[in-house]
Amino acid sequence: MCIFCEIIKGNIPSKKVYEDEDILAILDISQTTKGHTLVMPKKHYENFLEMPKDEYASLMAKVQDLAKQIINNLEAKGCNILINTNEVAGQSVMHCHVHIIPRYDENDTVSFRFSENDLDLDEVLAAIKKENC
Ligand code: 5GP
Ligand code: ZN
Repeated sequence: MCIFCEIIKGNIPSKKVYEDEDILAILDISQTTKGHTLVMPKKHYENFLEMPKDEYASLMAKVQDLAKQIINNLEAKGCNILINTNEVAGQSVMHCHVHIIPRYDENDTVSFRFSENDLDLDEVLAAIKKENC
C-alpha cells in the first residue's frame, strides 16, 4: 500500500493546498516549518527519475507557483525545494513528491550541511561524463 496513493484517493484525510487532475499538494504532517508542503503527481511514480519529462516539467511549474504563493502569503523570506530520491537520500514515502519548505530564519529547525571532500574534480567530471544515459 502507498500512503500517498491512499491520500490521493481520499481514503486518508489530508490538508489540501492545491489539486487538479494530475497534481495534489498537501500540508506535510510534520510541518518542519510553517507551511511545509508536499507536491506530488497523482499517478504513482516511485521517484522523479521515473517520471516522463513533460509530467515532471508540469509538476515543477506548479511547485514554482505554490512556492511563490506560500512565501508571499505566509511572509516567509525564502524556501528550500527538496526531492529526496531513494532511501539513501532520506526518502521514506516511495511516491514521488517535492517538499516546499518555507524559511523564516537562518537559525530555524531546518539544517542541510554540505561538508567538504578532497576529491579530484577532474576525476569526478570524467566519471560523470563517462556515459550519456
Ligand atoms: P520523504 O522523507 O519521503 O522525502 O518525505 C515524506 C514526508 O511525508 C515526510 O516529511 C512526512 O512527514 C510526510 N508524511 C508521511 N506520512 C504522511 C501523511 O500521512 N500525511 C501527510 N500529510 N504527510 C505525511
Ligand atoms: Zn503512490
